[in-house]
Amino acid sequence: MTLINSNIHFVLLAGGNSSRFSSKTNKLLAKFKNKNLLTHNIEFLKQLKFKKITIIVNNLKGTNINIFDDLEVIKGGKTRSESVKNALKKTKFKSRYVLIHDVARPLNSEKLIKKIIKNLIEKKYDCVIPYSKCSDTVIINQDNLDREKLKLIKTPQGFIKDKIINLHEKNNKKILTDDSQLFRIEKNKYKIKYILDNEINIKITYKDELESLNRLIGNNILVGIGYDIHKTIKTTKSHLIKLGGVKIKSKVKVISHSDGDVILHAITDSLLGALSLRDIGTYFPNNKKNFNRNSIEFLKYALTKMNSKKMNINNIDIMIVSEEPKINPHYEKIVNSISKLLMTSKKNITIKATTNEKSGLIGKGDFIACWSNVSII
Ligand code: ZN
Repeated sequence: MTLINSNIHFVLLAGGNSSRFSSKTNKLLAKFKNKNLLTHNIEFLKQLKFKKITIIVNNLKGTNINIFDDLEVIKGGKTRSESVKNALKKTKFKSRYVLIHDVARPLNSEKLIKKIIKNLIEKKYDCVIPYSKCSDTVIINQDNLDREKLKLIKTPQGFIKDKIINLHEKNNKKILTDDSQLFRIEKNKYKIKYILDNEINIKITYKDELESLNRLIGNNILVGIGYDIHKTIKTTKSHLIKLGGVKIKSKVKVISHSDGDVILHAITDSLLGALSLRDIGTYFPNNKKNFNRNSIEFLKYALTKMNSKKMNINNIDIMIVSEEPKINPHYEKIVNSISKLLMTSKKNITIKATTNEKSGLIGKGDFIACWSNVSII
């Protein structure tokens, strides 16, 4: 049986002001893993199948909170304690237990939540507090504190709901930095459980912290591989063939249903691959409509799909194998063209050109082939 049931109410505290974070940005809208902190938290709770979720929020502007069903939204008060007290009094959700969490901690974990609930239900604690140990040296004025004795208190914290409501009433005027303080100041009156939580569960207070966190773990990178090959025919006349969107004079003719741009076909396939969208033939089969078609249109299709996921090119590594035409004289032009088409800096693009050392059909000049490896972020 799942531990998360209708007797557990989850309160997400998103009402604080963001003054330490930024004077301009609402912290709730700051992006973590390409989602704002509020959405990130709500999606996580929905995944865990919480049925009763209350969001305490002061400023809904710019949030997409209305895309979620069954959320209860309550306006925050002037202080943290006032916000929580109001929400617990006004909520429509009845339950025996409540978990309270700060939206600024995006790394909340299922493991921790389950431990908290277990201690509330099975071990019958009144208040469950996650903490981590302090590994930094902490000083007051010039004196070191004994870090072995220090506990860094985190959220989510779990409570017997009636008891925390009573304590909030009793301490109406007190300014609290977390809710467990209400139980701690009562000394030995309540059963309190401290859970050591060594997982990273940092609170985002400053903009720099969020940027560091995104750099460390928040980056969502997808990679794809694409391969294309076309038959070539040697001719006495010179032909214009297309490579990477550039027309190049060549002594071979490329045989293809479309315009035969082997580089753009490989890039398109690698992008579709990174997005788990199969391949170019799925969307552009060899039919009448696609005869002689400009390959830029295939590439643009894949780019639209990438943009709809709010992703960008991270880097792309292209390898062309051909005897004719020689790529190096056209290197700059091709890189410029690909950079424009992909709307990414030239620094993110590498093109390598090689021959097949006269071996096999590519080596004899009967084929031109291209590989593309792309990573998107
Ligand atoms: Zn092709």
